[in-house]
Amino acid sequence: MRRVWCVWWGVVIGVVLGVVGVLLLAATIKALTLKDIDYQEGALDLGPVEDLPEWYLKGLPELMAASLRIATVSTAPGQYDTEALLKFHEFLREEFPGVFNSSFITTEVVNEYSLLFTIQGSNSSLQPYLLMSHLDVVPVVRDKWEHDPFAGEIIPDPITGEEYIWGRGAIDDKTGVMGIIMALNYLTLTDFQPTRTFYVAFGHDEELGSFVLHHRYMVRTGAKHIAKLMDERNVTLEFVLDEGVPILEGALKGAGFPLAAIGVTEKGWMMVKLEVEGEGGHSSMPPHNSAVSRLASAIYRLETHPQHPCLVQVPKLIYSLILHPRHHGPTN
Ligand SMILES: [Zn+2]
Repeated sequence: MRRVWCVWWGVVIGVVLGVVGVLLLAATIKALTLKDIDYQEGALDLGPVEDLPEWYLKGLPELMAASLRIATVSTAPGQYDTEALLKFHEFLREEFPGVFNSSFITTEVVNEYSLLFTIQGSNSSLQPYLLMSHLDVVPVVRDKWEHDPFAGEIIPDPITGEEYIWGRGAIDDKTGVMGIIMALNYLTLTDFQPTRTFYVAFGHDEELGSFVLHHRYMVRTGAKHIAKLMDERNVTLEFVLDEGVPILEGALKGAGFPLAAIGVTEKGWMMVKLEVEGEGGHSSMPPHNSAVSRLASAIYRLETHPQHPCLVQVPKLIYSLILHPRHHGPTN
């Protein structure tokens, strides 16, 4: 997304991301009757957002804006700004010392630049869950931005006067990082140890797929490295909650109302390496069907034969619920 910003209140809402998000997901999973578990047992009841003290809420928009001033840009596999990532770690340590010094939170730097937090619950018989976000952002085309994408400015809208935080990462996905860590910080300030253990993983190269190629082999980095580490530790999770899609209007034909979709899967991708061998020769006598043209036609065939789209069971169920006349929301 090129124009990325979020409102002040978006930040406030972000504070309870880890709470409300978990409850929402729990409710959804339960509604789909995938598993009958009482998620309330491990839920964090902090009360409604307006109960948060004013002194705490006041500083949050500025902290969110400050997080955007550290340009943790990922450019190509294995190419990310290591200095900015370490600076971002430092920023989190300085602004949220309670999280890093808590008696029930363990912090680990994984794969040099990613972060893994373990929030130890009081009841270890409950299966833990995982909240995820990522520290890196995609590059910018500077002249397409109305405001400096790395200045982290809070700017009022000229017409409505409503204030917006501008910057690369405001939506994807420092809002997730900051929302989660602000919520963790609030737990430590109120000395609220949750019942259920949970993990928080901030990968450093999500925008690059969390891998590098090393002599043709894929080496897991960032979030994939964290997944490997958790697997080695025999951690099994009740569920994972990662970044999602924004509230969309007009994205689904027939739904005349804004949709807050819960992503339950992600479209995959494939990397293919094609090799062609041919006879050498002189350019004055080119062969009829050279290696280059055979390679080109193979690439063309790949491009013109995409996989057929299909709807699997869960999205099918969701769409049918959304489009059912009984579930139509207000259309004005
Ligand atoms: Zn993202």
